[in-house]
Amino acid sequence: MDTDRAVPADAVVDPVAEPALRAHARIDLDALRSNVAALRAHAPGAAFMAVLKADGYGHGMVPCARAARQAGAEWLGVATPQEALALRAAGLGGRVLCWLWTPGGPWQECVEADIDVTVSARWALDAVVAAARAAGRTARVQLKIDAGLGRNGAQPADWPDLTRAARAAERAGAIRVTGVWSHFSCADEPDHPSIARELAVFRTALDQADDAGLAPEVRHLANSPGTLTLPEAHFDLVRPGVAMYGISPVPQIGGPESFGLRPVMTLAAALASVKRVPGNHGVSYGHTYVTPGETTLALVPLGYADGVPRHASGTGPVLVAGKWRTVAGRVAMDQFVVDLGGDVAAPGDEAVLFGPGDSGEPTAEDWARACGTIAYEIVTRVGPRVPRVYVGEQA
Ligand SMILES: *Cc1c(COP(=O)(O)O)cnc(C)c1O
Repeated sequence: MDTDRAVPADAVVDPVAEPALRAHARIDLDALRSNVAALRAHAPGAAFMAVLKADGYGHGMVPCARAARQAGAEWLGVATPQEALALRAAGLGGRVLCWLWTPGGPWQECVEADIDVTVSARWALDAVVAAARAAGRTARVQLKIDAGLGRNGAQPADWPDLTRAARAAERAGAIRVTGVWSHFSCADEPDHPSIARELAVFRTALDQADDAGLAPEVRHLANSPGTLTLPEAHFDLVRPGVAMYGISPVPQIGGPESFGLRPVMTLAAALASVKRVPGNHGVSYGHTYVTPGETTLALVPLGYADGVPRHASGTGPVLVAGKWRTVAGRVAMDQFVVDLGGDVAAPGDEAVLFGPGDSGEPTAEDWARACGTIAYEIVTRVGPRVPRVYVGEQA
């Protein structure tokens, strides 16, 4: 029988009252608030947009949004309109920007919910103007230029036309252009030649928006690396995501502590099994690990369904019984094994996959290196089966 508890992903769980949790992601909201303060100090002249897409990078969108607001974030930023509407549904007021739209999206709902929507192309401008008319109110629109990333945003060649059309819609009372913005391609590689190029494209786009008669409240370009390393990119507002969760966006330059940041998420599990096995015992699917001698194996009840990368097979670091161990053999859907050598542990003892790192545990950055990815992906992929346990929640 499955003895896992059915704990909803966004439940507030007290780990002391819930000692039987298989696994949990502990989310330190005091750390998040202090990270917001540290980031604001890096960009003192700019407003702050807390980026909360993808369930707050896996940390839980709504509790993190509340904590960011408590720390003074004037803006909340998300990718999809559904995420923006979910913030409103949870009672978060104030300014919210979303930027990843597809035709047929909930334009009118967002206009009615007072969400700032991003427009990168004429079809989207037409959609938001129609939605504003249907809603009988003025839509708040931010125009996005592609300064070189090659994803969303208007091409510079299409920008003068888009800004003129937006100004016409503004004069007609359908919209108000509240922002002009873009997104860097390589801000995490300081001195990359694209940075100066994209800044220049952005400045030209601002001049052209001005020529079209637009007067946006906020002009913005800086993600986490831009906030921490490119003061010339701060403009009116910065949009940090990963750094707010205490992860360095430029680990080659320094860890989170070097920027005054502290990791927010700790991922831990209770050992589900500890047993002695003889030497030459295969471990997990495919027997890619075989015990070198008689030893103790501990079973960690987290697997790739919970977001532990299968690429961590044979490489992922875990703190168990006071030492770093390495995932022995393959990561399975729900579980993986570590070899404790001769060390002693008991079922229920804690295995810490990653955390701030100051109690001897690995960090999300260590997992990223072990798996050939970035720490963004390590925290964001922690799945809904892992309850988030919030620490430092304020009313
Ligand atoms: C995700 C995202 C951010 C935040 O990026 P980080 O590198 O996590 O700081 C900012 N702006 C946009 C448009 C994004 O999509």
